[in-house]
Amino acid sequence: MSWFSSVELGPPIEVFQLTKQFQEDDFPQKVNLGVGAYRTDEGKPWVLPVVRAAEKTLANDDTLNKEYLPVLGLDLFSSLSTKMLLGNDSAAVTENRAFGVQTLSGTGALRVGAEFLATYLGRTVFYYSKPTWENHRLIFLNAGFKEAKEYRYWHEEKHGLDIEGLLEDLNNAPEGAVIILHACAHNPTGCDPTQEQWGQIAKVIREKKLFPFFDSAYQGFASGDLDKDAWAVRSFVNQGFELFCAQSYAKNFGLYNERTGNLSIVLNNAAHIPAVKSQITWTVRGMYSNPPSHGARIVAHVLNSKDLFEQWRGNIQTMSSRIIEMRKRLREELETLRTPGNWNHITEQIGMFSYTGLNQSQSQHMVKKHHVYMLKSGRISMCGITPNNVKYVAASIYETLT
Ligand code: PLP
Repeated sequence: MSWFSSVELGPPIEVFQLTKQFQEDDFPQKVNLGVGAYRTDEGKPWVLPVVRAAEKTLANDDTLNKEYLPVLGLDLFSSLSTKMLLGNDSAAVTENRAFGVQTLSGTGALRVGAEFLATYLGRTVFYYSKPTWENHRLIFLNAGFKEAKEYRYWHEEKHGLDIEGLLEDLNNAPEGAVIILHACAHNPTGCDPTQEQWGQIAKVIREKKLFPFFDSAYQGFASGDLDKDAWAVRSFVNQGFELFCAQSYAKNFGLYNERTGNLSIVLNNAAHIPAVKSQITWTVRGMYSNPPSHGARIVAHVLNSKDLFEQWRGNIQTMSSRIIEMRKRLREELETLRTPGNWNHITEQIGMFSYTGLNQSQSQHMVKKHHVYMLKSGRISMCGITPNNVKYVAASIYETLT
């Protein structure tokens, strides 16, 4: 007899399963466009030079030790992170109405924020975009939310944002519902609202008394400009919204496995901060007690130094411009081959991912026949495309569609 005999095999996580299949595949021209992680022109993972430099300095700092960090993490890290998101001159910063909590990357920030909202504000309903990053639903349900709802986002025919559907769905949301919004570089579609559309979204959120919870996993990575990519969050803050924002340093610092993130919390009254902070401390205490230090020390060290900060911006530029270049190349190749359909969206979309428009069976054909690993939804990671494989990827799409 075993206590565990009734446990059934769970479904695989698509993106990790694809990576495993890719690794086991011995086809020489195989391409992995599944995982959302930066690759160099040679298709290799990249440790940012500024991260290497910071690690060397930190390794030689004998004053650092392995004692526990506080429950809410390294103060310097979280305050610099919140400033980076909101801007140093943000009223929320100067009026001390905002603070940060160091978390286990972006996922951890979403989870801590969601659990706090469920526990202390009694929130039960949340909305996510259709489609969204596949983990939003699970994180919020595991955090205690009861009802997962979608708002329309991607318009299949238009290959762009379904703004009418989005506004209608938010308009019908119940008061107090938590709305997950991608701060920039929407995953998986690579399609963001325009500034005008963000204005319309903010208006409904205000009128319907909804709560905006931004997810910022790609600041700087999308356009190459940290301020530009924070525009939506800052515009909400400037309009006086109270909000949460989950920040990840996985992509823009390449710190994927260091689990380095921050939950920025913006209130409209500084007097509420001590109570909120003290209760979030209990949320974290019961979840993982306190966060790890390595990644947070690297980020704090870089954000706190003018020189290193500039170097980091250069590293971000390297990554974002390579991706933008690959978008151009892929579109050119597809158009040169006269691949059926319109490929403008490849260069119009932003960030790490592109929603190709390939359907499920076409995407699976790409994997099976061409060894080009991509999600069933037709999402590809632009980072996996390199000068060496772009022609092959385009030819594979061409063959699939003809
Ligand atoms: N949110 C979105 C939209 C993402 O795409 C990701 C990562 O892919 C995350 C959050 C969180 O990632 P991490 O927990 O690695 O920071």
